[in-house]
Amino acid sequence: MSRIAICPGSFDPITFGHLDIIERGSKIFDEVIVAIFNNRTKSPLFTVEERIELIKESTKHIPNVRVDSSEGLLVDYAEEKNVQVILRGLRAVSDFEYEMQITSMNRKLESKIETLFMMTNNQYSFLSSSIVKEVAKYKADVTDLVPVVVAEALKGKFKR
Ligand code: ADP
Repeated sequence: MSRIAICPGSFDPITFGHLDIIERGSKIFDEVIVAIFNNRTKSPLFTVEERIELIKESTKHIPNVRVDSSEGLLVDYAEEKNVQVILRGLRAVSDFEYEMQITSMNRKLESKIETLFMMTNNQYSFLSSSIVKEVAKYKADVTDLVPVVVAEALKGKFKR
């Protein structure tokens, strides 16, 4: 049986922090599905189609990564794909409570599904899509935080 994990998130846009988790996950699992879920509490900068393209470009060196999106519930998506593992990244302690809440809810909704957490590399502990967007807005250099395609896309969004 092949081992597949879903790496869910907003990815608005993908950063080196996300990529680190995806790359490490791809060495453990036969396949990693990076799935965009629209977080309704956040208003996205990039459309789902733009985010898919940016993730595809940023992960094209990893053969066992697939990119997808869903409008529904993560557990329903996992069931539909017949996947039992959700892979999430953990940064600082501040992520913990939020992640625990989602994990408990997902387990309540579907007990077969396991959520695995991978600790981020220290260098990405304080890296988030929001912080990248914030600094990119002021034309700061973000090339050591995100893949080149993303840095270019951010420039495009914030040019006047
Ligand atoms: P969400 O809106 O679901 O939190 P994100 O796109 O912010 O979506 O994050 C998706 C996943 O990537 C989450 O598991 C998050 O903890 C993880 N992640 C985000 N940034 C980093 C980072 N710098 N290092 C490791 N994991 C990260």
